Amino acid sequence: MTDTPRVVIIGAGPCGLGCARELRRLGHVNWLLAEQQDVAGGHAGSVIDPQGFTWDFGGHVVFSHYGEFDTLLEETMGDEVYQHERSSYIRFGNNWVPYPFQNNLRHLPPEPAYECILGLIEAPGGDSSQDFALWMEATFGGGITHHFMRPYNFKVWATPPERMASNWIAERVSVIDYKRALRSLTFQEDDAAWGPNNMFTFPAVGGTAEIYRRLAVKLSDQIQYNREIASVDPERKTVAMADGTEETYDKLVSTMPIDVLVSKLVHCPDSVRRAAEDLEHNGVLVVGIGYESPLKDDKSWMYFPAEDIPFYRATNFAKYSSANVPDADTGRYCSYMTEIAYSRYKPVSKEGLAEHVEESLRRAGVIEGLPEVASMHIEDAAYAYPVPTLKRDAALEVIQPWLMHHDIYSRGRFGSWRYEIGNMDHAVKMGIDTARLIVEKTPEEIWPSNDA
Ligand SMILES: Cc1cc2nc3c(=O)[nH]c(=O)nc-3n(C[C@H](O)[C@H](O)[C@H](O)COP(=O)(O)OP(=O)(O)OC[C@H]3O[C@@H](n4cnc5c(N)ncnc54)[C@H](O)[C@@H]3O)c2cc1C
Repeated sequence: MTDTPRVVIIGAGPCGLGCARELRRLGHVNWLLAEQQDVAGGHAGSVIDPQGFTWDFGGHVVFSHYGEFDTLLEETMGDEVYQHERSSYIRFGNNWVPYPFQNNLRHLPPEPAYECILGLIEAPGGDSSQDFALWMEATFGGGITHHFMRPYNFKVWATPPERMASNWIAERVSVIDYKRALRSLTFQEDDAAWGPNNMFTFPAVGGTAEIYRRLAVKLSDQIQYNREIASVDPERKTVAMADGTEETYDKLVSTMPIDVLVSKLVHCPDSVRRAAEDLEHNGVLVVGIGYESPLKDDKSWMYFPAEDIPFYRATNFAKYSSANVPDADTGRYCSYMTEIAYSRYKPVSKEGLAEHVEESLRRAGVIEGLPEVASMHIEDAAYAYPVPTLKRDAALEVIQPWLMHHDIYSRGRFGSWRYEIGNMDHAVKMGIDTARLIVEKTPEEIWPSNDA
């Protein structure tokens, strides 16, 4: 290895770009970023459909745990962002229950409200060694688990909760004590301000991808698009590109899914390959419906536990930014971005899906009347959620040390395969930390921490 190690970064998503930007900031010039697509952004990308509606690949909101991410946002977007107060709801029968569900049981009919509060009072309390199914019952009791947690989580993860761990939860699921729920029920008061994302930011133009497009422009002289890594030789320290060319590296930072990376290794122990087979993910079909109807709805996003509604979430995307509809004309258009998770446990067909989603938006009371449909758009995120299964941590403990021993850093949402550090701010920070580790030998701050 030379004094200035050759760093090859795979992927121009938030993590790869965060790493590249930090290498540049540290004055390290010997790097190359290879991205298989012709645009930057990865899962945090956005598209404009032929009718002029902008869609993200799933409902993205920007909220940050890290000063470094705030700086990046300021650098790229300046004041071209909107600050929104979260206004999210759960559809329960014909009612809108403010999020989080368990804090706002007063919006339920008496029977389920009673079941939920009773279950909460009797719940012994969960502990993180339990599987997710047991943890839900122990934490929330039977009522909330039956009416909301279990059906909703199956729709999101498309994975039976018995196969999932609960040690990833921390701030991702609102856990409350029964006194707070009882108070809200008895005094008929809403309690909606929970959580890390009760305020969120969104780019004024271009969808979420705008942040990463702008960042990529600044680094463009060292980013190579349409360059797909086909295989990695950890002994020769080379990556072979799909176009037949080869690059050598001293340090490889990979942000592609770690199971895919392992499948691309020219050689590695069987134990590493077997461990990669234990990792599970879901996919999400993002179905966007644009309406020729003025934006009236004040909700930010809505959750749907009911089985007869295909999506688990619908985002009121025109509210995030008027630029998300044609001519930024929210006096004429509104748009809803919905997400439908799939897996081998929950197969979903694309056939007729957009029509089913559109009909469901009306049936669920999201959109009123019979407005003209101006656009129907589908995106397929085949890797959407890295599922925290019971086998995940043991598998990663086999794979990651072997990779790092060979100077390969697998980071980012699917590179780390850790949902609890799988948001954009985490991904950027992981990229920054990896650059600092390589150049300054500073220990990483969030990977593989469990409690970011
Ligand atoms: C449905 C959904 C909703 C989400 N909501 C939010 C949210 O509200 N807030 C939030 O902060 N985050 C959210 N996220 C997470 C966010 O999208 C990720 O944190 C972020 O995109 C991860 O960045 P990354 O760089 O780790 O990976 P990615 O974005 O996946 O980027 C990896 C890049 O590697 C490239 N690549 C892969 N294989 C190869 C190869 N062989 N050769 C070359 N290049 C390759 C890909 O093309 C891609 O550009 C959401 C994600 C999903 C799926």
